[in-house]
Amino acid sequence: MTAAAHRHDFERQIKGLAVVSDVPSGSRLGLNRIGDAWVPGSSGEFLAVTSPATGEPVGHVALSTRADVGRAVAAARAAGAGFARMPVFDRARLCHRIADVIEARTEALARLLCLEQGKPLHAEAKGEVAGAVLGFRNAGEQIKWLETAAFPLQDPNKRAFSFLQPKGIFAIVTPWNFPLALPAIYYLGPGLATGNAMVWVPAPTTSLIAVALMECLIEAGVPDGVVNLVLGDGPEIGDEAVAHPGTDAVGFTGSTETGHAIARRAAGKPLLLELGGNGPSIVLADADVAMAAARIGAGCFANAGQICTATERVLAHASVHDALVEGLAAAADKVRLGDAFDPATTMGPLNNAPNLAKVEAHMADARRRGASVLRGGGRAAGLPTALHFEPTVVAGLTADSLLNLEESFGPIAPVLRFETEEEALALAASSRFGLSAAVFTSTIRNAFRYAEALKVGIVNVNEMSCYWEAHIPAGGAAGTGSGLGRTGGRHTLLEMSDLKTIVFDATR
Ligand code: NAD
Repeated sequence: MTAAAHRHDFERQIKGLAVVSDVPSGSRLGLNRIGDAWVPGSSGEFLAVTSPATGEPVGHVALSTRADVGRAVAAARAAGAGFARMPVFDRARLCHRIADVIEARTEALARLLCLEQGKPLHAEAKGEVAGAVLGFRNAGEQIKWLETAAFPLQDPNKRAFSFLQPKGIFAIVTPWNFPLALPAIYYLGPGLATGNAMVWVPAPTTSLIAVALMECLIEAGVPDGVVNLVLGDGPEIGDEAVAHPGTDAVGFTGSTETGHAIARRAAGKPLLLELGGNGPSIVLADADVAMAAARIGAGCFANAGQICTATERVLAHASVHDALVEGLAAAADKVRLGDAFDPATTMGPLNNAPNLAKVEAHMADARRRGASVLRGGGRAAGLPTALHFEPTVVAGLTADSLLNLEESFGPIAPVLRFETEEEALALAASSRFGLSAAVFTSTIRNAFRYAEALKVGIVNVNEMSCYWEAHIPAGGAAGTGSGLGRTGGRHTLLEMSDLKTIVFDATR
């Protein structure tokens, strides 16, 4: 390669990954899976993936084009009709076989997840693999018992009932924060259980783990073409997948801005959109403050804060504010950044440079507005990459701060003080998001009043805002920036199915 071409390659970056034409021999190679074949992207270029945890090269992933998406859609179309006819109990068995294969590969999957996504192997990566197993098992179980209705009619000669059919070809676009469990629980498990074919575009920084999951699907016997994996840059191939006339519906998790762009590009298609969150945890005067601090700390620092339902803001009643801040500082002190493979490490780095830039911008804004940074507040020193951000506690925050208004997606506990219930609810509603919240109180009356007033899809009482089990519904509240539809168990199965009604004349 000429020096100029080389320079050109490295000037092109996608989420901090260099675009290259040459792949060194021995590099782990992530290819597209289209129909029955593993194929490179038709650009001939690759993204060089570097570990956010260790800084070492992890491998290269295909940089695909819109034409590659077109091929994947054609493959899904060719396989889809046959798959839709597979008996539902066979599809359920297929989901369980996938779960078995993932379970058997736990160690290897967790290691790759740790290396590519950055989360610590023991504290988090193994748990995420277990989450993916659960996602397929849940889908396989729940689809077998998903009943639909027969309807009483006015006409004595007619009979009517409804049943579920697959929607057809789903375009699935997934993010990098839970690159294994999230696709499994939200889309691939439910999508297969309900008989859809799929074109899946994972995030570029976590595409190798998507390839590893795809290998599990193939090993378990998912028919060729039913799930197609296309790797590359979201604004190009994700956009093509959602807008392509050959895809019938869209499942997307990621930022609100991208979700809204997708809604425009996929106009008229059914959408299942899980977008940003900015979950407040509200601590009332009658709360058990020590317990609240420990659980809120977990909600802020888990996955280095990169969870859509993470505790993004802490609203503390004035009477418990100081004790709570002290408890959060103690929770931050317990967090251990370090070697991602060391069992003592509890928190990993941020996944990518753009996310780090956003976290740093939110912290700079808070400082400018006079907030006090009690713990952390910047990049952690002495670690293999600059993506490690310290567990951070910020107090004295004003409502107009970005930490209050926007999703930060970093390990930050920003505390705001309130005096009255009206003030607490107004602060909670001061962000455009409405995904999750938590309320800490010792009275049922307060718990229900707040939980019912908050405009979010899921509220935890006396638990961190991101507590969730994969079979209970969660999602964005209508009128907020957090998305459409509900993920979780039978609710996702319904979102990914079309309800068809048949009316019979019983006299013929
Ligand atoms: P993003 O919305 O840009 O990316 C999410 C996915 O969408 C990725 O796979 C990406 O490749 C793809 N994508 C990007 N642009 C697209 C387009 N125009 N059409 C189709 N697909 C497209 O999110 P991000 O930049 O990776 O992260 C930015 C912010 O999003 C984060 O800081 C966080 O606030 C939020 N986020 C939320 C979640 C969540 O679980 N709700 C997950 C990841 C990120």
